[in-house]
Amino acid sequence: TNRTFTMLKPDAVENGHTGAILEKINAAGFRIVALKKTQMTKADAETFYAVHNERPFFGELVEFMTRGPIVAAILEKDNAVDDFRTLIGATNPADAAEGTIRKLYATSMGENAVHGSDSDENAEIEGNFHFSGREQF
Ligand code: ATP
Repeated sequence: TNRTFTMLKPDAVENGHTGAILEKINAAGFRIVALKKTQMTKADAETFYAVHNERPFFGELVEFMTRGPIVAAILEKDNAVDDFRTLIGATNPADAAEGTIRKLYATSMGENAVHGSDSDENAEIEGNFHFSGREQF
């Protein structure tokens, strides 16, 4: 499909970057299909990141993602998944290209400001994890 899913992570929301990040997303040509501020429970984060549950940073990741509110969104654009990952930059902000959201707003590999789905299949799963059909326009 032409959709992806994103979360502005707790660090970005805490640091007051919500508006600036949404503006960059808009300026890059993504249409907002669904949008909300919410907070993940521990069970939510464990389910959302289940693919990483054997990784050494899993506990830290769940702790981080649940420590404050996030902003979740479904975005639409041609080539949405790949173009959004280009817009956000590398997982580690130290490796992220100039001008990318992580280069501008992330603090570390763990606290890296934004999530972007890594495939069309995961975009659909992740979008439907956070939004009902009635919240998608
Ligand atoms: P995301 O899935 O959030 O878009 P990504 O696809 O760039 O990020 P993944 O490898 O899927 O990166 O890791 C998921 C998330 O887990 C990362 O965004 C980061 O917050 C955290 N993470 C990954 N590697 C590490 C690490 N070595 N130490 C701490 N946290 C990490």
